[in-house]
Amino acid sequence: FSMIEAVEPRVAEATRQELTDQRNSLKLIASENYASLPVLATMGTWFSDKYAEGTIGHRFYAGCQNVDTVESVAAEHARELFGAKYAYAQPHSGIDANLTAYWAILAHKIESPALAEFGAKGVAELSEADWETLRRRFGDQRLLGMSLDAGGHLTHGFRPNVSGKMFHQRSYGTNPETQLLDYDALAAQAREFRPLILVAGYSAYPRRINFAKMREIADEVGAVLMVDMAHFAGLVAGKVFTGDEDPVPFADVVTTTTHKSLRGPRGGMILSTEEYAPSIDRGCPLVLGGPLGHVMAAKAVALAEARTAEFQTYAQNVADNAKALAEGLLSRDAQLVTGGTDNHLVLLDVRNFGLTGRQAEAALLDAGIVTNRNAVPNDPNGAWYTTGVRLGTPALTTRGFTTSDMDAVADMIVSVLKSTTPTTTSAGAPSKAKFDLTDDARDASLTEAQRL
Ligand code: PLP
Repeated sequence: FSMIEAVEPRVAEATRQELTDQRNSLKLIASENYASLPVLATMGTWFSDKYAEGTIGHRFYAGCQNVDTVESVAAEHARELFGAKYAYAQPHSGIDANLTAYWAILAHKIESPALAEFGAKGVAELSEADWETLRRRFGDQRLLGMSLDAGGHLTHGFRPNVSGKMFHQRSYGTNPETQLLDYDALAAQAREFRPLILVAGYSAYPRRINFAKMREIADEVGAVLMVDMAHFAGLVAGKVFTGDEDPVPFADVVTTTTHKSLRGPRGGMILSTEEYAPSIDRGCPLVLGGPLGHVMAAKAVALAEARTAEFQTYAQNVADNAKALAEGLLSRDAQLVTGGTDNHLVLLDVRNFGLTGRQAEAALLDAGIVTNRNAVPNDPNGAWYTTGVRLGTPALTTRGFTTSDMDAVADMIVSVLKSTTPTTTSAGAPSKAKFDLTDDARDASLTEAQRL
């Protein structure tokens, strides 16, 4: 710290304070964790100074032999851990991974057949007319993903996100009564919409997905099945999700982040079948620039950790803790979306406490419980205020919390929410009308964006 302090004391202080804050609060944000010291230390090295555009052994810069080593080790661990034919460790984040995967699928399914049809050997040989045809075909493709309020992610076709702009998109929701995925309804929607890509995966759906059923639906309509396992990659790695709940044997392409339940450095990764590997391997120059050597090195370390028996125990504890948290909340009269959980997260519907999600989030933060507000299916309060609070167990499980600790956490959460009246929270007023202008304007734009 003294080295940082000598250069920029405010950064040294904020970094020190971040450690204190993360230690002195209960981190229940479902997408966060605590990476190990070996992972953190690996991120802070001179690999950060090296450019290595290209792929392993085929770089556009000299002197990339050590980056080749760390990227190869990361990919090898990922292939062996997840049983995938191919792994690509370069994406800088989950969004990068999804964007790279979408473009790689388009390149494989649309560009390559078009090139054969045009009689061209590569994009360099295309005429202006060919380009126009190709652009139209790219722009004509359809994507079907889970809606944001059912638990999907922005990159699964949300209109304000690039995924919603590059594809004709439609989203599937959950059953209005059970709030569970309805595979028959999804199949009917897919039959009618006929997407090029069916995306499965979520950020806030508290249940497991049956990927065998997803595969059947994709096959029936001739769609590529892409699974975004960013949230639950740790549960796949730790062999909690096996059989039909393991996406890797069923999907054509699987994307993930490495920093959530997988407990690695902040970053993304793509797994695929042999068929899609050549297109994904061209992530640079398709979407990406120079890979982050220091982060790929840390991914390799984290993946090595995830291959241990200790990690399998950790992953099982994450799921057991989420169940204990859900049971603790339900036994204290809280309402949960889908009535419970069988993964690493719980979505608490706070309307029976007379609060919005934003007010609940603020009240919990005042009590040292760090969460994020989250839309619930058909949320009456929109995406900014929301009606839910998302709670996840990966971080507290890393700290060694057990199922009985989770019951105590549930007790604290319910006590805080029961003793909160809207005006006592730092989020302010009980009705939307009294929120400040900036928030109202933002809410209006988000609601409008959702409507679109
Ligand atoms: N995919 C899912 C399902 C996510 O939940 C997230 C992040 O919250 C992402 C992708 C994007 O990850 P990143 O923030 O690393 O871009």
